[in-house]
Amino acid sequence: MIRKLNFSAGPAALPEEVLKQAQEEMLDWHGHGLSIMEMSHRSKEYVSVAEQAEQDLRDLMQIPDNYKVLFLQGGATTQFSMIPLNLLRDKKTADYINTGVWSKKAIAEAKRYCEVNIAATTEHNNFTSAPSQDELKLNLEAAYVHYTPNETIGGVEFDYIPETGDVPLVADMSSSILSRSIDVSRFGLIYAGAQKNIGPAGLTVVIVRDDLIGQMLPSAPTMFDYSIHAAADSMNNTPPTFGWYLAGLIFQWLKRQGGVEGMQMINQRKAEKLYAAIDRSAFYANPIAVANRSWMNVPFTLADANLDKRFIEEADQAGLLNLKGHRSVGGMRASIYNAVPESAVDALIAFMAEFEHKHS
Ligand code: PMP
Repeated sequence: MIRKLNFSAGPAALPEEVLKQAQEEMLDWHGHGLSIMEMSHRSKEYVSVAEQAEQDLRDLMQIPDNYKVLFLQGGATTQFSMIPLNLLRDKKTADYINTGVWSKKAIAEAKRYCEVNIAATTEHNNFTSAPSQDELKLNLEAAYVHYTPNETIGGVEFDYIPETGDVPLVADMSSSILSRSIDVSRFGLIYAGAQKNIGPAGLTVVIVRDDLIGQMLPSAPTMFDYSIHAAADSMNNTPPTFGWYLAGLIFQWLKRQGGVEGMQMINQRKAEKLYAAIDRSAFYANPIAVANRSWMNVPFTLADANLDKRFIEEADQAGLLNLKGHRSVGGMRASIYNAVPESAVDALIAFMAEFEHKHS
């Protein structure tokens, strides 16, 4: 068996060590004679797995006690609706920062429920930077401020956490959660689809300050109410048990890598060497403002777009998968999440140099 190097934007690479552990435990979880997928979510064995995963995430992110951690379904996209439904409370407007494709989707959904004030947008420069704090036109009456710390498609990442005073800050961390340390207490709500840095698709993690929940629009569906999920420890109905279990294995793996702080150092090194390789060549380019270059998603173009197809074909042959850029951007994109080892980035850099040598 040869495992290839996977640069997919999501569902993305998972640590081999974790996949092997899941494989070992697959038929007979801890001597119980059945797999974790076949267990009741209410069994004491499963509940202990679920609780351990939550505790490990709390440890990794140093989540304060006044925050609920929810393990939900529906993807980050469902959060685009749950956030306004739960957090508007008696307010009529919300602030959104627009830095690309995912911000726009969140904005479009919020517009169904409230007046959206675009606090800043970088559309004028084709989303190649993040706005600075000074550029944010925040509304003191807003129910919350929403932003996307890392735009997965554009490869734009905020290099600071916006200061929003008393207005709760909401972050779509789908593609950046657990990649570097952050101060959770700066946020009202953090959400992330699991399929990049947390585990398999089908699980969505929400971290929410407890004073913000319990005031959902009365006509909204029960399953959209954060307070219902919080009161039931995310077991109001059957949770995504396998995804939650696997996330737990990833959290333990992450602790073995030195936690988020350890991972942050590796991630910074991986990103810096890949951008350096792009910058030192006239053959490759990345358009993003240096301070806002994503550590997780690195888009790049070839000077001659006619070579794009060749690049993908040859990369595939060399065992480097999923480097094609998003259809809306073109070119290439290397997603280098936590589970993509530094050796894979080294292999990509070597391949890029060789490809350039051959074709220039
Ligand atoms: N937000 C961001 C930043 C994303 O990268 C994605 C998925 N690529 C989504 C939202 C949508 O997530 P999901 O498919 O889990 O709904």
